[in-house]
Amino acid sequence: MSSVTINRRGEDRARAGHPWIYRSDVIGADAAAGDLVAVTSERGRPVGHAMFSDESEITLRMIEFGPAAPAPDFIERRLAAAIGYRESLGLDATAYRLVHGEADRLPSLIVDRYGDHLVVQALSQGIDRRLPEITAALVKLARPAGILARNDPRVRLLEGLEQKVEVLHGDVPQRLEVREGGIAYDVDPWKGQKTGLFLDQRENREAALRYARGRLLDAFSYNGGFALTLARRCESVLAVDISGDAVARIRENAAANGIENVEAREMNVFDELRELERSGARFDTIVLDPPAFAKNKSAIRKAMSGYKEINLRALKLLTPGGFLVTCSCSYNVSEAMFLDVVSEAAADASAAVSLVEKRAQGRDHPILINVPETYYLKCLILRKLA
Ligand code: SAH
Repeated sequence: MSSVTINRRGEDRARAGHPWIYRSDVIGADAAAGDLVAVTSERGRPVGHAMFSDESEITLRMIEFGPAAPAPDFIERRLAAAIGYRESLGLDATAYRLVHGEADRLPSLIVDRYGDHLVVQALSQGIDRRLPEITAALVKLARPAGILARNDPRVRLLEGLEQKVEVLHGDVPQRLEVREGGIAYDVDPWKGQKTGLFLDQRENREAALRYARGRLLDAFSYNGGFALTLARRCESVLAVDISGDAVARIRENAAANGIENVEAREMNVFDELRELERSGARFDTIVLDPPAFAKNKSAIRKAMSGYKEINLRALKLLTPGGFLVTCSCSYNVSEAMFLDVVSEAAADASAAVSLVEKRAQGRDHPILINVPETYYLKCLILRKLA
């Protein structure tokens, strides 16, 4: 078997349960792209087994810690465990995440279910090489009508892998219909953002429903996940997104669900918030769900000023007694940092604000407690005191 030797720092990291070993902690490698390798310490002690990448800064993704090699059928076993966990959750939706990479001990593999169809993403050399085995196991375990590989994320380039979208099994149409709670969505698994929907917000939409009322502003709306879910509790809804496709989808989804109180605007949220403030608009519920402002460490400062600006403006637009649901999906921005920036925004808006709920991504996107990077979605539900 191929083998890789790591230094003391890498060993400490692995022993603490972190599944990533960086290139700078690798001393020697006798392995080819995507190999399953035995990982040993400088002193020759076994650390575990991992998938090897000859391109990425993340050279090793641990599959098993300790001396024992992974079972030959570890992929099928872990897929079965991941699927079993999702079935046990009793989710009120036909679309959800079946496999969440590291958190299901299948590093860099994403599998989302959209009704009878599956969408997969293979984000490392090791997983990419095993796609035939993964496809066969998914067909056996989940019996999908079709499986689409959405292998177009840019992170694949860091692994030296090409960006491509292809059918791995069966048929995958351009439009799939799924249901989340009481709302039906048309999803485009071929071209939609991520794998088609933002599945990680489902439980935050359910939580927001407990507080939503009056006039709702849903900023960064995509195809209307929050707007449509909350519309039945609100008098009026304004959904704003910069993407023309997303706005068209909100209108179609609203019509298909017989929802008539939603207005969708194609606008940059930063401009729209300023304009709403100038015109003296007020809202009783506001949702802020921006894209990851900090995609890497060097973008953190700029990201923080972006979060500050939208939260400050939202708190000014909010009526006393109103609720703000504010999110950050940047894993480089910790919960503490996000709370800090929102507190600064509240101080600048001269608003007394209470923290009603502190939330994360849905349970189908598990967080590993010893891998902080897996806690990426922060969602605060705040109330502006009267
Ligand atoms: N709230 C959505 C997910 C939002 S994802 C849901 O529940 O499903 C972030 C969205 O922000 C994307 O749809 C993207 O098109 C949009 N976006 C990015 N930058 C923007 C900007 N400056 N103004 C408005 N929308 C923006």
